[in-house]
Order: sequence, then structure tokens, then C-alpha cells
Amino acid sequence: MRFDTRLVHTGGGPDPQTGAVNPPLYLSSTFEQTAPNRNKGYVYSRTSNPTRTALERALAEIETGQRGLAFSSGLGALATLLEDVPSGQRIVAGDDLYGGTWRLFEHHRRQFGLSVSYVDPTSVEAFGAALDSGPAALVYLETPTNPLMKLTDLVAVSALAHRHGARVVVDNTFASPLFQRPLELGADLVLHSTTKYLGGHSDLIGGALVATDPAWGERLAWLQNAVGAVPGPVDCFLVLRGIRTLGVRMRAHDLNGHAVARLLEGSPRVSAVHYPGLASHPQADLARRQMSGFGGMVSFELKGGERAARRFLRALKIFTLAESLGGVESLAEHPASMTHASVPAPERAARGIGDGLVRLSCGIEDHRDLVADVTRGLRAV
Ligand SMILES: *Cc1c(COP(=O)(O)O)cnc(C)c1O
Repeated sequence: MRFDTRLVHTGGGPDPQTGAVNPPLYLSSTFEQTAPNRNKGYVYSRTSNPTRTALERALAEIETGQRGLAFSSGLGALATLLEDVPSGQRIVAGDDLYGGTWRLFEHHRRQFGLSVSYVDPTSVEAFGAALDSGPAALVYLETPTNPLMKLTDLVAVSALAHRHGARVVVDNTFASPLFQRPLELGADLVLHSTTKYLGGHSDLIGGALVATDPAWGERLAWLQNAVGAVPGPVDCFLVLRGIRTLGVRMRAHDLNGHAVARLLEGSPRVSAVHYPGLASHPQADLARRQMSGFGGMVSFELKGGERAARRFLRALKIFTLAESLGGVESLAEHPASMTHASVPAPERAARGIGDGLVRLSCGIEDHRDLVADVTRGLRAV
């Protein structure tokens, strides 16, 4: 089956008992046992639930892994993974990370002895130097990064990490498995905030891990039950429903992302556009090598700084001013005062997150309406 067909049929097929084409919602915390410690495969819904099983099978299949696990949020998935990184061990990570990931590493786990070395995600040599400097349990990557859309060469960094005995984890939230499949490029584990493109409708919070190694998958499943950050059956159902339409949605996001990025690139009020689908992206060759599309995330720097960004955002009529991304509706935000406000100003400046930076999540509306809306915003600057 080709990928789009798989998206529609993944997760286990019709219910064998009733023929229902969608998995039933098993709103049950516990399951009857036929005798003490004898059961029909389900005992208690923190450990497993049939609606969640359908989603977890689908997650494994679409990320081409051996074991899929669903969580109550993307950060719930990450926190559970970090339970497998004992105190005293080290993570090597790209230095442009989702703010909540940074918070969990630096403001929480650091006090319990986790150390994280941050490197330029675009530089394979920087990963090499960090790995040469001492042992590391994990290499943790986002590609494309948030909000500057930088890429990491997954084939090269995975090979390097494996030579140093480190496992590679990729947060694939921005690209989605439609456009990038890290496990096929050498990574060991994929993480998702299913809140974003997989759910796709801004109506739930969820997360996922997908492992290639069944033994590590089993260990993470043990931790999933031991820690307990699991999603309820309704949210599992909604993520699975989102996955059915991932193909058509991502192509619409991609079309709109391209249209908006090209418009921004031609504007004299814009000093930089960050979108890996543009020929002007500094890693355009790598983008085409490891991604088959680029989606709806576009960020750009306005020449007039924060004042210009505020004027731009105020003039928009279709893009909603809101955090988050990956839903059918277009969203716009100002990283310096919203999603990345927790990063200290000098650090933001050093990383290239200027006060005039605006991040757009282009939805699936008609691209002409989005182009008109962004044009309206630029005229107001
Ligand atoms: C949103 C997000 C997360 C965190 O996921 P939640 O579902 O909000 O907990 C992690 N990584 C990336 C890239 C995100 O965009």
C-alpha cells in the first residue's frame, strides 16, 4: 500500500465483532477478569485500552517503527522518555528546541543530574565534537526547528551517534511522517506532539513515541504504565481520525506554506524568510534530500522590529493570534513575547529570534485568502 492508503486504513481495520469501520470508544477504566489474573488482553486502561491500541498500531505503522505509544501530551511523552535517562547521563541536543522541551531539560531535570550539551543543529561537525567530548545516552533533535526552521542531517548525525553508542531521538512534529520519516533515515525513536499535525484540528492535547527496537519499545511501554501520562480513549479516537486525513491536509498546508513564503520573500518590509521549501533556504539541498514536502510552518523577520510585528499581527483577519500550530485554521504568533518569551532576551538574540520575528502556521484555507491576509498585514507595517 502507498502511504496515503496506509493512512486511511491503518490501526487494525473494522471491528471484528460488529464490523464498525472505526474503533469503538472503550470508555472503561477496568476490564472483567475471567479468574484472578486471567483476562481477555486488557486489565486496566492506564496499562492499555483497545481504542488506544488502535492508535498505537497506527502510530507505529505511519512512522515505520516496531512499537507505537500514545501519551497525554507531547511533553508527557518526553517526560516518560527522560525516565529512561538516569541521573548522571548526558544528552546532546540541537540548540533550537521547543520551549517546553528546553524547560523540562534545563529547569526541571538539570537539578536531578541530567546534563544537556547544546550544539548548532545545522552542523554535523558540532555534533561530532560534542560526542567526542564524552559519553552521551541520547542525541535529541528537532528538524525543522522551531521557530527558525533549521535542519539537521539525519543520516549523517544518526551514523555519528551510533558510532559513539548514543541513540537518536527525533521530534517529528513539524514535518509529520507524510513529509519526513526519521526512522528510515537512521533514527531510533520518533516523538510527536499529536496536538499538532497528527490531530490536525486544534481540538486535543496528545503525544507519541515510536521506537524501532522492540526491546526499547517494550521498556518505554513499561514506563508509560509506570508513569501514567496516558491519553483517554476519546483523544485517541480523535488523533486516529486526524491521521486518516493527514495526506490531504499536509499537501494543503504545504501549498499554502509555499504561497505565503514566496509572498514574504518578495516584500521589502521583510529581512528574512525561514521556510525549507524555498530555494533560498541555506539548507535547501538537505531539505530536498530528507523531506518530501515542507508543510505550513513559515517564520519571517520584519525590518521594523517588535512595533512592526505588532502592527502586522493586528491587521490580520484570517490568521488567528494564538500559540500552537498544525491545525486546519491558520495561526500567527510573535515568538519573542509568546512561545519563546521564557528564553532570555540575549539568548534569543544570539539564536536569531529577533523582536520582529513572526511565526505563521498556515492552515488549509484557500491560499489566495491567506496571501491576501498576509498582504494586508504587510501593508499595515
Ligand atoms: C507543541 C510541541 C511539543 C509539546 O507538545 P504538547 O502536546 O504541547 O505537550 C513538543 N515539540 C514540538 C515541536 C511542539 O511543537
